[in-house]
This record gives sequence, C-alpha cells and structure tokens, in this order.
Amino acid sequence: MSYISLYRKYRPKKFSDVVGQEVVIKILKNSIVNNKIGHAYIFSGPRGTGKTSVAKIFSKAVNCLSNDSGDLCGKCEICNMNLEDEIDIIEIDAASNNGVDEIREIRNNVKLLPSHLKYKVYIIDEVHMLSTSAFNALLKTLEEPPQNIIFILATTEFNKIPATVVSRCQKFDFKKLTKKQIFDRLNYILENEKRNLNSDVVDLIAQISDGGLRDAINLLDQVLSLEKKEISKDDVYSLIGDLSEDRIFDLLKYIVNSDIKSVLSFIDDVYNNGKNLVNICERLQIIIRNIIIYNNTNGYFDETYEKKLQEFSKININNILELSNELFNLINNLRKTNNQKVIMEIYCLKMSLIFDNKEKNIITEENENDKKIITSKDDKKEAEDNINDEIKKIRINNSLAGANKQLKSEFVNKYKEINEYVSNKEYNSIANLLLKAVPEIVSDKNIIFSFKNNFDVILFDKNEELIQKLLEKIYNKKYLVVALTSDDCEKIKKEYINNIKKGIKYEYIEEKASKKKKKSKDKLEETAEDIFGDEIIKVD
Ligand SMILES: [Zn+2]
Repeated sequence: MSYISLYRKYRPKKFSDVVGQEVVIKILKNSIVNNKIGHAYIFSGPRGTGKTSVAKIFSKAVNCLSNDSGDLCGKCEICNMNLEDEIDIIEIDAASNNGVDEIREIRNNVKLLPSHLKYKVYIIDEVHMLSTSAFNALLKTLEEPPQNIIFILATTEFNKIPATVVSRCQKFDFKKLTKKQIFDRLNYILENEKRNLNSDVVDLIAQISDGGLRDAINLLDQVLSLEKKEISKDDVYSLIGDLSEDRIFDLLKYIVNSDIKSVLSFIDDVYNNGKNLVNICERLQIIIRNIIIYNNTNGYFDETYEKKLQEFSKININNILELSNELFNLINNLRKTNNQKVIMEIYCLKMSLIFDNKEKNIITEENENDKKIITSKDDKKEAEDNINDEIKKIRINNSLAGANKQLKSEFVNKYKEINEYVSNKEYNSIANLLLKAVPEIVSDKNIIFSFKNNFDVILFDKNEELIQKLLEKIYNKKYLVVALTSDDCEKIKKEYINNIKKGIKYEYIEEKASKKKKKSKDKLEETAEDIFGDEIIKVD
C-alpha cells in the first residue's frame, strides 16, 4: 500500500474535526440549519489555516441528505462520496493558470443546474491569481447569480481581489492557529500513530509553522520519517536547513558585544554553508521579541529558554527597539537584493554600532565569568588586521607617488555614474557605500578614498574586489584602491606635504605580491616601513 501523508490522513472530514476557526464554522453551520445559503463566499487567511478543507466540507454539508445539525451526517451517500469523482463540486486552482478559460467555461456551465446534487459548488483556490479578464468573467457570473450554484473563493491575499467582486461575496476571515492548537493537534496525531516525540520538539514544530497547521503536520511527517531513536530540536532545525537556536543566540551576543570580527565570521560561515539569511534574521527577530516578553512577564517561557533570554535582559529597551527596527529593514532589503551577504554585513555592523560605546560588557555569562569582553575598539582593529596592512601601505604610497590633480578631477567628474548602480542587484550595496566615500588622492593606478566612519572603511576592505570590479566597469580601467578614515587621511596628507617641502619624494612600488602570499610579506613590510617609518627614502 502506498504511503498516505499525515496531512491527507488527518485532513478534517467534517466541521467538528476542524481545528480552530470556530467563528467561521459556527456561521456556516447556522446558514445550513436556517437554509440561508449564500451564492458566493470569500475565505481569506494565511496559508495552511483550513480554507480549502472548510470549503470542501461546506460543499458536502450543503448537499448532505440529513444536515439538520449543519454538519455532515457522515452516513449518507453524499457524505461518503469521493470529492474527486463528483462532477457537481469543482475545484479550480487559479495559481496553476490565469484561469480565464476555466472561468469562461464556468459561465457556460453555470447556466446548467447541478447534475444531481442540490448545490453545485465551485471552489477557486488562490483566487487572487486570476487575471483581470478572468475576474471580469467571474464578476459577470456573480452579478447574475444562478440558482443553486455556490462559489467559494479562497485566498491568502485578500487585498488583490477587486472590490467589485468582494462586494458580491460574504467574507470569512481564517485566523492563524494558536501555537497551542497546533501543539495539541500534533500530539493527537502522535498518539493515533503510536509515535513518541519529545514535547520540546513538538513545541518547536508548532512554533516554526507559525499558525499554519498544514506546514506543521508536513514537518511532523518529515521528522517522524527520520527514524532516529531520539529526535532533538536541532534535528528539526537541520531538517529545515536551519541553524541551531544557540547559533542564533551567538549572533545576537556578537552584535550586542560589538564583536565585529565574530559578526563577520559568523556571516561568512552561514553564507558559505548556504543557509537562508532571511530565515536567520527572522529567528533573530523572534528572539528579540521574546526578550521583551521575558522582561515583562513571569514564567512565560520554559526554564532553559528563559536562561538564554536572561543574558540579554539588561539591554536598554531603546536599544532593543532600535535593533528590532534595523533587523526589520535588513529582512526587507535581503528579500530585494542579489547580494545578500554584503547587505547582511552592512546591517549587522550597523546593529553592532548601536551597542558600541553605549553599553558594553552587558553580557556576563554565569558560566563564562572569566570570558573577557573585547572592547569594540579592539574588535575593529582586529577586523582591520584581516586585510593586508602591507598592501594598504603600498597603495597609499603609490597613490601619493602618482598623485595628480588633473586625473583626480577627471575621476571625480565621472564618479556620479555610480548612481546608476544604486538599484543594480549585483552592485547596489557597493554603490551605496561608494557614494559615501570621498575620492581623496587619485593617481593613474591607485586611489585613496576616505570615509567618516571606520565602520565603512571595514566594509570597504571586505568588499575591495567587488569595488574594483565596479570601478573598472565605470572607468574602463583597473584601479587598486584603499580606504581610510577622514582623520587618517588628513594625517597622511599633512605628512605628504611636509615631506614634499623637505624635498622628499615618493617612489612607486610594484604591488607584485598577491595578498595571500605570505612569502613576500616581510619584504613588502620592509619597503613600506622604509617609506612610512622615520627613514623615508630620499631621492636626489
Ligand atoms: Zn450526510
């Protein structure tokens, strides 16, 4: 026998089986009892909340031969018929085509009476996907409602349905199920299937499914098919391709500690492992919400989870709200870009800055009392160390050696073309960063940019290759670039002017060594020190 999915097996067969949606069901049952059946209904609500199931039950219940209670009697031939074989109950999936042909066909067919049932029912799933012309055809039919024909229009996006159609329908709102309703239903299924699952795993499934029972049951199905002796929460996370909860808490810790180096390596790691960044951010958002709940309630979460939240309970509420706000923007931007990694870096660093200098050392872990909280200054320095200081020094030298006003003004004139990449999916984040940069010193091969914030310098360094690629697109030539803070840049300019006055000249140094080759590092360092140290090379 082929395997029947749990979802199909436990799909409600009558109103009394449906989980939640009590208000909707009460009204529908009353309309049957009082024989006041409408001719068009809209079932609106999030996915997996029972719209199609209730539509199917309703289409049987109106036809049931003994429906005095409003529900299916379960005994008559109608109640026991197979919906797929029933020509008077027609299901159309508007998502699978634009629907215009099918709606036209409805217009022709509805003139006919039901072939043998009392009511002919059309269930149109995802009705918002219908094309304009299909909606117009549907509207024509609704304007002259034929006898004994019922339309049930199901949708997850009510706002996309034309007002002219809405005004001719009775609307029912399907609500997300509560976590408890889903939890109880999952336990009911487990009991029936004679399977055991830790309560915290069931709870997690209920939480992940976010009010959608169908998703919850499908996930339960997958979890049970793991055939492991003991299934853990992390099994569930890895099943849906997600990080463990502790890893998400780690990210929050790094942000709150302004531990920029760890933030960036976290992003590198999850990105390289193909994790869903939107999902990670949404889970972080849930944790932040839970911190607020934890701070204002008593015993709302289980003990283990509260312990995790407690670490963050001392964060100032304004900072939490600011964090949540940035996270919201991040999630929106992640959905829009092709360059998710850079967007994630920019926002996570931005979020880290919320806590920079404001509230350091807030995390004192009970078990890690001796863990040293690195100050953010040190973090920045360490992150800077990631890029090659020697190369930076050489590029600064080379920019100065070839500095040329004419080249600079030509470069600056064309710089506004970066604006054209602001909405380019590949380069948008880089373009936005470059628009904050000031081209300070321009030579034929090198450019020094300056930024007000050190944080932008870090981002620049991290994305140097992409930046050079974009500049090459705009200027049709390859520049080697370097970024400094405005303060550092001023220092270098002063030093340069002094040296020039003293008759000291800067010489071009070939940047032959690749960044990653450590072999030549020492030599480069020597050369660079010669230039920027006390003994500056004196030419002539
Ligand atoms: Zn019946």
